[in-house]
Amino acid sequence: MKVNPNIFREYDIRGIAEKDLTDNMVEAIGKSYATYLGNNGLRKFVVGRDVRLSSERIQAALIKGIISTGADVINIGLVPTPVLYFSIVQLNADGGIMVTGSHNPIEFNGLKMCKGIDSVYGEQIQQLKQIIEHGEFIKGQGTVVDKDIVDEYVRTIKSKIKLNRKLKIVIDAGNGTAGEIAPQLWEDLGCEVIRLYCELDGNFPNHLPDPTVPKYVVDLQKLVLEHQADLGIGYDGDADRIGVIDDRGRIIYADRLIALFSRDVLKRMPQSTIVFDVKCSQALPEYIEQYGGNPLMWKTGHALLKAKMKQENSPFAGEMSGHIFFKDEYFGFDDAIYASGRLLRILDETGNKLSQLIDEIPYFISTPEIRIECADEAKFDVVAKLVDEFKQEQDVIDIDGARVQFGDGWGLVRASNTQPVLVLRFEAKTEERLEEIKNIFKTKLNQYPAVKFSDQDFK
Ligand SMILES: [Zn+2]
Repeated sequence: MKVNPNIFREYDIRGIAEKDLTDNMVEAIGKSYATYLGNNGLRKFVVGRDVRLSSERIQAALIKGIISTGADVINIGLVPTPVLYFSIVQLNADGGIMVTGSHNPIEFNGLKMCKGIDSVYGEQIQQLKQIIEHGEFIKGQGTVVDKDIVDEYVRTIKSKIKLNRKLKIVIDAGNGTAGEIAPQLWEDLGCEVIRLYCELDGNFPNHLPDPTVPKYVVDLQKLVLEHQADLGIGYDGDADRIGVIDDRGRIIYADRLIALFSRDVLKRMPQSTIVFDVKCSQALPEYIEQYGGNPLMWKTGHALLKAKMKQENSPFAGEMSGHIFFKDEYFGFDDAIYASGRLLRILDETGNKLSQLIDEIPYFISTPEIRIECADEAKFDVVAKLVDEFKQEQDVIDIDGARVQFGDGWGLVRASNTQPVLVLRFEAKTEERLEEIKNIFKTKLNQYPAVKFSDQDFK
């Protein structure tokens, strides 16, 4: 079978639902996944889906493909991605697939695949593609059972998070999968919840479900201030990423949230290794060290962080994009619902306002993620050359692109694994220094015709 290679990406399979993810294609993916894992003796898989309009169709085709290899499927229906992960653990499955387009525009959809609860990614996804191209599928006749797992999931979270204070929170689920579960859960735990866009709707009529994009959280910020709430919580479409607004209506970048969580984890597990990605603020490793932890910077990519965390036996990891992984009292997968529970628990235990806790973390002036165009064929080459160039002059961390350390600030350039773009971020002690560091990067980038940007991109 001929396939569009572009849908087999670094961390998932993703494409335009009605063009790239046809029934035939998805059925072949199901066959290929179950063949790949079936060759290793794995044959019991959980399948879940998000709220997207195409998800039910895709899930049906996927299941058809999986059982045609003789593997068995447990269909857990419409759930957040972390509930899919939870069900793999809870139901003792060998793996699972989540049909989700996460935060992407409505015409997209995708598949997040797991072996156990580890992500299937990188080279493994390329192998799935090859199995489809060669058509070498195992044959058999498996079974499908439906299972409602949400109650068990909710009970598990309730057993782990206890609150004494009545916190007031605004929840923006972006009409995604967290909309039904999360607000009810926090109400049951004694919170006053103001619901924003919590109706499940795959048309995403209000905004795309990505709480890390400032323009999508404007309403959430407004409501937090209007209701004088303790905080606002945003979930992405499949609830594996979180965005937080503090009681003063400020967007709290994930690296500051990770700092806060690290302090909490280190209180109970001193000297632990905390893993975070290269996009995070210099304040984070400083803060982790201040509280007796061992900071470990790693490559961007949720699958990569999860793997590194396992390798280092780390109890906690987080990514600038809002993926947060707790293994101290939880399973080690990224679950934005559980993570928000941990945040509520910190507020409850300390009795402090979120803004107070955040303001205790050292502050640098930073830019959000800056994304500039660079063709897929050129991006890795350009970044490799930039790493070499910067190394001649500066101290460079090169685990993922170049994070150039200037002492009083830093700049990052890395190639996106998922899009034809370079990702940049800058941070410094002062505005003037921030501009200087940006200019050093602009001058370097200008040497490469494949890189396209304007000054506006760096604002
Ligand atoms: Zn997501």
